[in-house]
Amino acid sequence: MDAQEPGRLTPALILFGAPGSGKGTQARLLRQQCLNGPHISTGDMLRQHIEARDLIGLDIEGRMRAGRLVSDELVNRLVEERIQQPDCRDGFILDGYPRTLNQAAVLRDFAAARGVDPYVVHLIVDYDKLVARLSGRRQCPVCGTLYSLSTNPPKVPGVCDLDGTALVTREDDREPVIRERLEQYELQTRPLLEYFQRVGVAMFEIQGAGATPDAIAKCICGKLAVSGRTVR
Ligand code: ADP
Repeated sequence: MDAQEPGRLTPALILFGAPGSGKGTQARLLRQQCLNGPHISTGDMLRQHIEARDLIGLDIEGRMRAGRLVSDELVNRLVEERIQQPDCRDGFILDGYPRTLNQAAVLRDFAAARGVDPYVVHLIVDYDKLVARLSGRRQCPVCGTLYSLSTNPPKVPGVCDLDGTALVTREDDREPVIRERLEQYELQTRPLLEYFQRVGVAMFEIQGAGATPDAIAKCICGKLAVSGRTVR
């Protein structure tokens, strides 16, 4: 991002919503439909450390399996490093970050210092739907594509449509870990909505259920186009 043209801000989409609200799915669709820049999922980054069995992974595994948040210090550092990579220069999509007031404040300072313009898309989904979605969720461990047993099943049961890999259930997509994650969201993350409003971050409210993922993405792109934030 250092090579920014003077006066031009780097747009940073914060995809915001409860676990199961569709952040990961929408990030992928928005990149296909109307936005540039990498999809940065802190959950995926943390899971990669667990899979690699490195020091960070060993340290966070217990908390993640229990559905609790990992430390602000670690996540802030990982994200700061990631968003300084050259592929973030023209914009990026944050999925799962910030998730606490500390993270939001750190991101805000970083954004002010580096010419980043954060804006929020808030995916609104009812609690009951979230629980149903999370318990029926399956993911391709290779390409990351998400499926839902009820609304978006793979063509062949248990197998990724794109690369044929056997789908997996995430360790934390099991009861009662789902309840714990939703509780953490209510306690630690939902209050950020008020924070964003207070500090004047632009916010777009979107119904994240009741339409296909594709239609929801089109709706988001439409709102972003009106505000001049899309690239195509
Ligand atoms: P979801 O949004 O469906 O909960 P994620 O993949 O974003 O899924 O997150 C999975 C887990 O990773 C969280 O329950 C938490 O343990 C950890 N995590 C992800 N992002 C953060 C973050 N910004 N701060 C702290 N912990 C995080």
